Amino acid sequence: MLSASAIEKHINSEYVHLANTRRELEQERLNTVYALIPEVEEIDRAIATVGVRYSTKIINGNITASELASSMEAELDELKKKRAEILAKHGMNEDVFAVPYECAICKDTGAVNGKKCTCYKQKMKRFMADAASRISNIPIDFENCSFKNVDFSFYSKDADPTIGVSPYDNARNIYRTCLDFCKNFGNSYENLYIYGPAGVGKTYLTSCMVAQLLNAGHGVIYQTAYKLFNFLEDCHFNRSKLNNAELLKTAIYDCDLLIIDDFGTEFITSYTQSALFDLLNTRLLEKKSTIINSNLNMNDVRNTYTDRVSSRIMGDFTLLRFVGDDIRLLKKERNM
Ligand SMILES: [Zn+2]
Repeated sequence: MLSASAIEKHINSEYVHLANTRRELEQERLNTVYALIPEVEEIDRAIATVGVRYSTKIINGNITASELASSMEAELDELKKKRAEILAKHGMNEDVFAVPYECAICKDTGAVNGKKCTCYKQKMKRFMADAASRISNIPIDFENCSFKNVDFSFYSKDADPTIGVSPYDNARNIYRTCLDFCKNFGNSYENLYIYGPAGVGKTYLTSCMVAQLLNAGHGVIYQTAYKLFNFLEDCHFNRSKLNNAELLKTAIYDCDLLIIDDFGTEFITSYTQSALFDLLNTRLLEKKSTIINSNLNMNDVRNTYTDRVSSRIMGDFTLLRFVGDDIRLLKKERNM
């Protein structure tokens, strides 16, 4: 069983690393100042031992608790004042020791008032984009994909006899469903199976969803079925040459949203059948959303995959069927 927060743990470890690096740098700066002005080191040692020295006094009964508090405070003030004066004499102040935070908002903790900081969302985004890129060996760029740029002029407004509405209205409906999916993401749980012939805009629409959800700080992995199952197979047989392959595998099982593009183009073997079932089933049980893009209709799915897989898809996914002409060919005709 995979740990539910393996990716979060991985990102949290980055914050621990940041804090450690910061402490080391601060100590280095301190040591430089100590070497330059040994008096500062003496004062720092006195400050650090104030508590111990006074607790001895109280044990010996030489002082009451309130006397202790006020005289301890007075000594600390005195020491700090002296320290500041010495530093000033050398043209320095407290700032020389301060190593700036990478994120000043959360002071490199990743959270503000119990909520995830923007820097955390950035780290998640980078991790997910990196994971997808490493599996495919191609950096995937979603930055330019936006719902606003979807061009409906490529869909005919004539009713399509197979679905009873025009490809235009149908595409608009699918678009709205996908937009709602993104808006409600995290609050409601849904899986989508988006299918239809090649070139009708399935991949672009899902890329828009990836961009929107990544920007909102969700962990999204987008990958073609072919690359995804090659990777999982390599992992299974310990052939993967990728660094941190296990963590990548965890990310595929565990990410907030997994998008499997070109479903049906992977090599169908008994291994991929069982890996696919395991992946879909694990994600369904954990209520992690999955989107599948495919040219395969439900008949094809039934004929291609095991009963276990096809019943999961037909039972647990919202089916969105695209109709229309190949947009790539239309673009060519229109010289776009
Ligand atoms: Zn932050």
